Amino acid sequence: MLVTSPANVRYLSGFTGSNGWLLVGGDRTVLVTDPRYEIQAHTQVDCDVWVTRSKLVGTLAKLVRKWGWRRIGFETAHLRHEAYAGLSETAQSGVEWVPLKGWVERLRACKSQWEIERVRQAAATAAQAFDAIVPLLKPGLTEKEVATELDYRLRRLGADRAAFETIVATGPNSALPHAQPTDRQLQAGEPVLLDFGAQRHCYASDMTRTVHLGAAPASFRRLYAAVLEAQQAALEAVRAGVTSADVDEAARAVLSRHKLESLFVHATGHGVGIEVHELPRLGKGERARLREGMVVTIEPGIYVEGYCGIRIEDTVLVTQQGCEVLTQAPKNLLEL
Ligand code: ZN
Ligand code: ZN
Repeated sequence: MLVTSPANVRYLSGFTGSNGWLLVGGDRTVLVTDPRYEIQAHTQVDCDVWVTRSKLVGTLAKLVRKWGWRRIGFETAHLRHEAYAGLSETAQSGVEWVPLKGWVERLRACKSQWEIERVRQAAATAAQAFDAIVPLLKPGLTEKEVATELDYRLRRLGADRAAFETIVATGPNSALPHAQPTDRQLQAGEPVLLDFGAQRHCYASDMTRTVHLGAAPASFRRLYAAVLEAQQAALEAVRAGVTSADVDEAARAVLSRHKLESLFVHATGHGVGIEVHELPRLGKGERARLREGMVVTIEPGIYVEGYCGIRIEDTVLVTQQGCEVLTQAPKNLLEL
């Protein structure tokens, strides 16, 4: 199998460079990379390393012919058409390329103890960064300034970097589930939604908290309480053996009881590991069962256009009996 997704290459071999393909066979495995990564590859991987000054695809095609490989799987989601076209030229010498979907991704869904420790650290780092940023949230700061400060805190606390582009969204901007920080200032009487995570030793965490500057009006408190109740219900539904859809339904049922279901426009959660979004997906109709050792987010949210968005998200470890919340930070409504 030819593995071209950087995250999958990292998972299988330990290589963290940006340019490396892994060829995995019955009796030999080779990492093909360029001279910039020669030293790094030799320290990080224990399979053979092939260094090439030309394009990986050309080298790959040569190796495959030389070794007489006949049938090779490739990752449909992670191979550019240009590269695929280059590889398919080997078909003339009898090589068959077999499209594969999600093979390594499915392996990655269940974490080893070693991986769990890494996600645990990434989650603890994010939770500490949240504790550090709360006292700094004051009217007049811009969303960008808060996001910069949060990223800085993550690094100061030991993260390699933020796991993804930190979201800081105030007032009506928080109604965009994937808002980008702007120059809008924090204002008293408005909510602030913070969605962020740490990447530490190649593993990510993901968490969201929504706080309110100044006393929150009753309407906001009611919405917040409903989202918190939905998140709690979903957390309680998590355990090895239930389907992803069951967990999603637990959150959805609560919001539906509060007549807010139409405002919950995304899935309840997703796997987290080397990448921020991994398998499984915790959404409607997902029949896959949760297994011990999976790490997933639980993040119901509601979005009211022109007014506010509220999301509460934790990264949790699936266990036999339930789950362990790894992002331990306050969830009661903070009115700052
Ligand atoms: Zn998030
Ligand atoms: Zn998330």
